[in-house]
Amino acid sequence: MHNDPGPLLQRARRIREEVIVPHACDVDRGVFPRAGMRALGAAGLLGLLSAEEVGGAGLGLRAAAELVELIAGACGSTAMVLCMHYCGAVVIERHGPRAVRAAIAAGDHITTLAFSEAGSRSHFWAPLGTARAVGGKIRLDADKSWSTSAGEADSYVWSSQPLAVQELSTLWLVPAAAPGLTIPRPFDGLGLRGNSSAPIRAENVLVDESAMLGPDGGGLDIMMATILPHFQVLSAACYIGIAGAAVAGAIAHTTRTRFSHIDQTLADLPTIRAFVARCIVKRDMVRALLADTLAALETGHADAQLRVLEVKAAAAEVATEVTDLAMRICGGAAYRKDVGIERHFRDAHAATVMSPTTDLLYDFIGKHVCGLPML
Ligand SMILES: Cc1cc2nc3c(=O)[nH]c(=O)nc-3n(C[C@H](O)[C@H](O)[C@H](O)COP(=O)(O)OP(=O)(O)OC[C@H]3O[C@@H](n4cnc5c(N)ncnc54)[C@H](O)[C@@H]3O)c2cc1C
Repeated sequence: MHNDPGPLLQRARRIREEVIVPHACDVDRGVFPRAGMRALGAAGLLGLLSAEEVGGAGLGLRAAAELVELIAGACGSTAMVLCMHYCGAVVIERHGPRAVRAAIAAGDHITTLAFSEAGSRSHFWAPLGTARAVGGKIRLDADKSWSTSAGEADSYVWSSQPLAVQELSTLWLVPAAAPGLTIPRPFDGLGLRGNSSAPIRAENVLVDESAMLGPDGGGLDIMMATILPHFQVLSAACYIGIAGAAVAGAIAHTTRTRFSHIDQTLADLPTIRAFVARCIVKRDMVRALLADTLAALETGHADAQLRVLEVKAAAAEVATEVTDLAMRICGGAAYRKDVGIERHFRDAHAATVMSPTTDLLYDFIGKHVCGLPML
C-alpha cells in the first residue's frame, strides 16, 4: 500500500505552471532544465520513488507516471530528464549506497542511465565498455553514445562488460565528477533539445569496488526486472503527455482560428473535426493501455511483461501519429513556434528511437508471444 500522491502532485501542478511552462522555450533552445529540476527536487518530487526510511516519498510507479505525463504536457525535455532520473534512482534505491539514496530523496542528486554505446548502438543490453580490477580500484573505459543529462547529472548508472564472469553486463554507480569522464560533443538534436543527451567517454575512470550495483554479471537481470518496467511505463507517460499537449494545442487553435469571409472557425470543417477525433481516440487508447499496464504490474498479472513491452511501442506510434495530425490540423500556422505544436512534434520523434526502439520492441513482443527467448 503506497502513500497518497495527491499533495505531491498538487505541488507538481504549481511548479509546472510557475517554473516549467515559463522555461519551456529556453529549454527547447538547448538549455538544460535546471530550474525545473531544482524546483521538483525542493518539492520532494525527485525522491518520489525513494523509501521513506531515507527521506523519500515512498510512492510507486503509478504516481511517477502521473507526474511525468503532467510535466511532459509542458516540457518534453524536463519530463525525459525526470524519467531517466527515476530509472537510475530505482536501481540506486535497491542496490546503491545509503548516502546517495538519501541525496536523491532530498532532491539534491540527479541521476540517469548511461547504457547506449557507439559499438553496440541501440542494443543496450550488450555493452562493449570494460571494467578491470586495477590496484584495489575498478577501471572503467567506454564510449557511451547517448546519456540523457550527460554533464548535468550528479551520477550515472553505468553498464560495462562484467569483471570476472561470462555474462553480458555489470552495473556501476559512477560519480559524474570522476576524473577521466568527458563529453566529446554537446547534444544538438531534433527534439527533447534541453535534455543534454550527449555522448560520454570514459578513459581510465577509477571507481571503488563498492560502486558495483548488484552482482558482477547481474546487469541484464537488473535491466530487465527493474529498469525495463520503469523505463517503458515512464517513457510511455512522457510521450502520452507530449501527444496530449499537441492535441490540446490543436483544439485551441481550431476553435479560435476563423475564416472571416465565411464566418466559420477551423473546427467548423468536418475534415478538421475528424482529425481531432482521431487524435483523441488514439490518445485515449494508449492512456487506457498505460492504465492496464500499471494495473497488471501492481497485481502481478500474467500479462504484465507483455503490457510492459507493448506500452512504449504503442505510445511511440501514437505520439508520432498524433503530433503529425496536430501539425496538419493547424496548417501552415503549425510551422511557427508561437503556435506551440512543432516543439511537441519534434519531441515526440525521440519515442521511436530511444532504446528499446519501437522495432526492437516489435521483435521482443513477437518473440514473447511465440514463446521464444527475448535475447
Ligand atoms: C533524446 C534521446 C535520449 C537518449 N537518452 C539515453 C539515455 O539516457 N541513456 C542511454 O543509454 N541511451 C539514451 N539514448 C540512446 C537510445 O536509447 C538508443 O540507443 C539510440 O537512440 C539508438 O540510436 P542508434 O543510431 O545507435 O540506432 P541503431 O542501433 O543504429 O538502430 C538503427 C535502426 O535499426 C533498428 N534496429 C536495431 N536493432 C534491431 C533489431 N534487432 N531488430 C529490428 N530493428 C533493429 C532500430 O530500431 C533503428 O530503427 C537516447 C536517445 C535519444 C534520441
